[in-house]
Amino acid sequence: MKKAVYPGTFDPVTLGHLDIIERSSKIFDQVIVGILANQSKTPLFTVAERIDMLQRSTSHLDNIEIASFEGLLVDFVKQCDAQVIIRGLRAITDFEYEIQMAHTNRIMAPDLDTLFLTTSLNYAYLSSSTVREVGMLGGNIDIFLPPYAADKVREKYKIAKGEYL
Ligand code: ADP
Repeated sequence: MKKAVYPGTFDPVTLGHLDIIERSSKIFDQVIVGILANQSKTPLFTVAERIDMLQRSTSHLDNIEIASFEGLLVDFVKQCDAQVIIRGLRAITDFEYEIQMAHTNRIMAPDLDTLFLTTSLNYAYLSSSTVREVGMLGGNIDIFLPPYAADKVREKYKIAKGEYL
């Protein structure tokens, strides 16, 4: 059974993340989306909220599991009995950080591999932080997020649907 872990912050899950999840689900028997419960970042959404948004946004896929983890990614991947870490590459700016992480993880866990998927062109510009900012300023976020996640962002910022600037 080929298993992969797709780790990230997912604060919130975007259509770019979902695209990577859908494509990974065709490559692997099972994909575990691992939400990093990292206390050093101050996320907009709690881990439970991020799990909920990811679960609802991936309910059409039957080989996706949503989990959260703390500590080292390589330990979580081993616990999941997975062999591969999936990451999305948007632009050259992602590359330096990602290659550093991939090498570090490989030194710590030589049995694991990191697989990079290039983003779909439509979502190459998209990041959770930009979407949070657009949402906070009352812009239309429906074009960036799965519908349920868009509702949750509006709820956080107390903006009614259609009340865009
Ligand atoms: P992290 O803080 O680990 O970068 P993110 O939730 O921002 O967490 O991203 C998780 C993964 O998804 C990363 O590999 C990131 O490069 C990728 N990713 C982020 N945005 C997009 C997007 N728009 N399209 C495809 N992949 C993306």
